[in-house]
Amino acid sequence: VRFVNVQKSYDGETLVVKNLNLDIAKGEFLTMLGPSGSGKTTTLMMLAGFEPATHGEIYLKDQPINNVPPHKRGIGMVFQNYALFPHMSINENLAFPLQVRNVPKAEIEERVAKVLKMVELPQMGNRRPGQLSGGQQQRIAVARALVFEPDLVLMDEPLGALDKQLREQMQYEIKHIHERLGVTMVYVTHDQSEALTMSNRIAVFNDGIVQQLSTPAELYERPVNSFVAQFIGENN
Ligand code: ATP
Repeated sequence: VRFVNVQKSYDGETLVVKNLNLDIAKGEFLTMLGPSGSGKTTTLMMLAGFEPATHGEIYLKDQPINNVPPHKRGIGMVFQNYALFPHMSINENLAFPLQVRNVPKAEIEERVAKVLKMVELPQMGNRRPGQLSGGQQQRIAVARALVFEPDLVLMDEPLGALDKQLREQMQYEIKHIHERLGVTMVYVTHDQSEALTMSNRIAVFNDGIVQQLSTPAELYERPVNSFVAQFIGENN
């Protein structure tokens, strides 16, 4: 993934993302960390294709993608409001995006079984979302992002709604899935400790600008300015 001079304005006046230049390596776990309103979600939406960039270009595998629609970008996504279809079984929820893409039935069944196993819920396929706990539903949301076998997975505050203990367990599980599959992950959070434990590198956003891009250790030991120092210091 590569952002080249990317800017975003919603109102034609204020830039909420200001001249973003960012390279994300294949297989990397990159976290966008920053306070509310700093431009993280907007950056993710541009990468997913749901918001056009106002200026600049985004590349995936060295191809410019500004004009590629979201469903053709080969990206899996997980959001905080994961919105599984309540009237469908878990199997149906996972199969649905593949049916829409005309994947053959046998292959759908195989892939659904595989991702359910991956999130350690192999027996839950016939239940409805309402019959699962919040943490289990969130794992299904992760499974749904993986069912496309994407090279790139985007997660926006996926654990925000979970309690502390479950959040820590899911952090570990997502990290484990990342290591096992070798997919590239772009993860958005405002939680410093979550970013520090999960990421290969962290991009600290403030006011539409990446203030620092570095490994968790570097960030912790050598913050480049007082904003980063203070933000990383909070809640730690
Ligand atoms: P949060 O953690 O609260 O989601 P964030 O860092 O992800 O914050 P963004 O959601 O990208 O930040 O928001 C950046 C700025 O853009 C904010 O000032 C926000 O109000 C504005 N904004 C976001 N989405 C829209 C939209 N659809 N229309 C207009 N303004 C928007």
